[in-house]
Amino acid sequence: MTPTSAGAARPADTMTVTVLDRAAMNATWGRGPSQIILVTGEIATICPTCGGPRGAVRGLNAVEDGEHYHVTMWDNTCGHLDMYEAVVREIRARRAATTDSGAPR
Ligand SMILES: [Zn+2]
Repeated sequence: MTPTSAGAARPADTMTVTVLDRAAMNATWGRGPSQIILVTGEIATICPTCGGPRGAVRGLNAVEDGEHYHVTMWDNTCGHLDMYEAVVREIRARRAATTDSGAPR
């Protein structure tokens, strides 16, 4: 699962989440039909704001513009909200650091 790569120190615990990539969706907005763009990847199980534990993940089926999709939701016990954009950034940063997966699709 997690290849032991030298270098980057990272938290031991991660969780896999799927979130909407709002930035990517906004970038394509107005160029044809609206599109749901999802990003799946790993993020730390701790809140980036205070270092407290993030909440347990749960799946949520949502619908937007008639398109159904599945995302991950979690409630941080500390009360801090994880913004999708920040989560997407964290997933990307983690992916770039580990480089264990090619383009998922
Ligand atoms: Zn917090």
